Amino acid sequence: MDLGVENIAVTSTGTFWSGDELDHWRREYENRRATLQRCGSSDAHEVMQSIGRKETGRFTILLHEIANGIVAEADARGCSHIAFENLTDIRERMVGVKRLHAWAFRKLHAFVAYKAEAQGIQVEQVDPAKTSQRCSTCGHTDPENRPTREQFHCQACDYKNHADYNAAKNIAFELLRNQNGAE
Ligand SMILES: [Zn+2]
Repeated sequence: MDLGVENIAVTSTGTFWSGDELDHWRREYENRRATLQRCGSSDAHEVMQSIGRKETGRFTILLHEIANGIVAEADARGCSHIAFENLTDIRERMVGVKRLHAWAFRKLHAFVAYKAEAQGIQVEQVDPAKTSQRCSTCGHTDPENRPTREQFHCQACDYKNHADYNAAKNIAFELLRNQNGAE
């Protein structure tokens, strides 16, 4: 599974969960918080805190829904494992990742982990290095394979697909490679 800002999660079996809703709420929350800070009334702090709790609740519900979808798909397809990219330093590594995204990815990982465990599916993290630039069909790795953020176009074998879907397949392959003991 690939994580991102435009798409929160994309699975190697081809399901996309958009990040639009999360991003929309994040902007709305930041705008409202900025307005409240400007008026500076005595109870602004309290209002801000209550918005914070409400938003956190909405984000959490959304992440539960996504996690349920991911685990249901893995279960329906008889998957034994779900691979996540390693979440350490994800804000430094991934362009456009805000604090909220990093929080959302960690929550999503935690939700998927316990929901998957209940179905007998294991959740693992793998090294995401080059998974966005490598061709999931022929293995050719090249920054040129990514003409835009969304497109993947292999310069060696001409394979074309959505960049997040290509990355999700590479993350799945990475887990298989690790399990086979090869590098
Ligand atoms: Zn290729």
